[in-house]
Amino acid sequence: MNQDYIIPDEWSIIEEGFDKERVMSSESLFSIGNGAMGQRANFEETYSGETFQGSYIAGVYYPDKTKVGWWKNGYPEYFAKVLNAPNWIGIDVEINGENLDLNKAEISNFRRELNMKEGWLGRSFRAKLQNGTEIEVNSIRFLSLDLDELGAIKFEIKPLNQSAKINFKPYVDSGVKNRDANWEEIFWEPLDSGNENGFAFVQARTYKTGFNVVTYMKNAVFVGDKLQEIIPNVEEESVTKIQLNYGLNVAENQTVSFIKFGGYTVSTNHNEDELINAAKKAVNQADEKGFDQLLNEQKEAWAKIWEMADITIEGDVKAQQGIRFNIFQLNQTYLGKDARLNIGPKGFTGEKYGGSTYWDTEAYCLPFYMATKNQEVARNLLAYRYNHLKKAIENAEKLGFKNGAALYPMVTMNGEECHNEWEITFEEIHRNGAIAFAIFNYVRFTEDYNYIPEKGLEVLIGIARFWYHRANFSKEKNQYVILGVTGPNEYENNINNNFYTNYLAKWCIDYTVEQIAKVEANFNSDYVRILNKARLSKAEMGEWKKVADNMYFPYSEEQSVYLQQDGFLDKDLTPVAELDKSERPLNQKWSWDRILRSPYIKQADTLQTFYFFEDHFSREELEKHFDFYEPLTVHESSLSPCVHSIQAAKLGRMEQAYQFYLRTSRLDLDDYNKEVEEGLHITSMAGTWMSIVEGFGGMRVHDGKLHFEPRIPEQWKSYSFKINFRNHILTVKVSHGDPEFSVDGNESLEIIVNGKSVVAEPEI
Ligand code: BGC
Repeated sequence: MNQDYIIPDEWSIIEEGFDKERVMSSESLFSIGNGAMGQRANFEETYSGETFQGSYIAGVYYPDKTKVGWWKNGYPEYFAKVLNAPNWIGIDVEINGENLDLNKAEISNFRRELNMKEGWLGRSFRAKLQNGTEIEVNSIRFLSLDLDELGAIKFEIKPLNQSAKINFKPYVDSGVKNRDANWEEIFWEPLDSGNENGFAFVQARTYKTGFNVVTYMKNAVFVGDKLQEIIPNVEEESVTKIQLNYGLNVAENQTVSFIKFGGYTVSTNHNEDELINAAKKAVNQADEKGFDQLLNEQKEAWAKIWEMADITIEGDVKAQQGIRFNIFQLNQTYLGKDARLNIGPKGFTGEKYGGSTYWDTEAYCLPFYMATKNQEVARNLLAYRYNHLKKAIENAEKLGFKNGAALYPMVTMNGEECHNEWEITFEEIHRNGAIAFAIFNYVRFTEDYNYIPEKGLEVLIGIARFWYHRANFSKEKNQYVILGVTGPNEYENNINNNFYTNYLAKWCIDYTVEQIAKVEANFNSDYVRILNKARLSKAEMGEWKKVADNMYFPYSEEQSVYLQQDGFLDKDLTPVAELDKSERPLNQKWSWDRILRSPYIKQADTLQTFYFFEDHFSREELEKHFDFYEPLTVHESSLSPCVHSIQAAKLGRMEQAYQFYLRTSRLDLDDYNKEVEEGLHITSMAGTWMSIVEGFGGMRVHDGKLHFEPRIPEQWKSYSFKINFRNHILTVKVSHGDPEFSVDGNESLEIIVNGKSVVAEPEI
């Protein structure tokens, strides 16, 4: 554990004491978002120390021209970057002529809190400025869940040892940059700015993609409860920046509050010529309600989310804080209101993984959204890929595939591939399988079979075709093989017959063929429409089946395990435990060449197969594979410990499951992978939820029923969670005694607990 400065608390993330070394980590950890926009926890006022400025708008991206050392045919033209958006939070604060800057002032009593229950970020501290003025500051900021184009800040200052001339200088600024820009280009073209009656805005458009954004603010100053009639001076006015200056004298021990409302209106949601009016409308609404009412509404909106999504853990505050942090961040990132959006691995907390959508959504996030929101949200996540099918077919065509084969991108914003490392772009094709698996998983959980004839089947056909074309017949093996891939374990490249990939490919074809038969039998007009559209014949399906039925899987008779890939046993299989701790994380300490030759596994790979297709294998087989692969796994992907936690729990190894749980749930809070400064690992947070629900709770769906095999880590007194299963809201409470199940409303629900039928009754 590297960090350990976050104070354990059930509902809040708390930091006490100011440490410049921690500023960037805290900027990530205290990030806020509302599904439509989000931002790192940058200070409102000037900070001259090291900082990573970041504010992001959902769905707004820039196609940054690819930069690679050696161009390879088939590379995407660009990497879609999530843009650092214009700044609306900025408030420079001048006190008796000196700029407040935590890098220069003497700071005491510093406290930062991210209140997850109520959805706000707060900060308080005392500062002694170089000019001798001492002040106390309290600030609070939130991004409204209800009015998702709006954010609000209250910045309070109290001079402690003398009266003070205070100048608040709020600004909006579109002159921002991305740290990770490939060519140091500016991504925003400034268009306009304006300032009337305290409402100020800058308007800018993204180059190439043409997203038009108005960034706005409206400010007010209060002394006590009394609104001050201050006409601000214009401090700076250009097409990229408007800064106003509100000056006033404040007596010793008197508190002045500066309220700033701000945010974005975006052309994805409004006509371009309506953007300024929409921004005015947002501030008018905010003005009418006032800061306190908006904050109350924020608390209510979060209470509604928690009502369904909360997981409580009794007796282990760090574990409790961990799971709530994960659930909170997932909801800050994606709320399922807008089918055009998806869940980026870093959400709104950093630039890395610039593109928005990875296989993470289907493989890890879907179960969380399926069980804690309504069905429509999960359906939207699937529809996102349906809407990109045409592009996935084009992606495959660019690589030379024909006949409607679809290769979904590894990273995308708009359906086009935008990742350009050859081993990932061309080889990490297993992502295609996760998209098919998610359709299966969704139908298994929701029983919304209609999704398949409506949308899913076309996606499945494109994917099955891809696998058919990507496999080739090996005369030597007399079976079909899949060569030159990278599996989920990215610490191996260009390998042959990755077990996970081959298994998934076979499964995708089999599943697709089964669904075609079901649709033919039960939805005949859809069947005819889809087959015509896809130009698919029975003869072609027969060819697919030959591949699926004769797929090769590398296996070691001696070890009785499937091998991660051909030749895996040639490696020196020294377990991770024997490595010196100073060599970890390998990706920061070892050369790439050494990593590739090593047996160390970045994340669940063969074991990912056992996670997806648990029913295809016996418990003994799982145990064998777990014992073989776990000692070689370094978990240097955030997506790894959750799978191992679920499997350890299934095997009854509760202490190990618990350790993995802590690792996944506190990955960022404790900075296990030493990279939290870059942003949070949002998608793996859904894996944390799975570790509790599927791991400890043992939840599965079989034959249309929820099954549980509840277990509890020794360290916990009890835990509880809720599941929305086909519109029944089931509460599960597990303690060291008998587990308890109840349902909301008045309809009971039959579930299976440890193999026996149990009826969950409505709570009286
Ligand atoms: C993992 C991938 C994942 C990506 C985004 C990588 O480190 O290896 O599996 O899709 O991060 O989370």
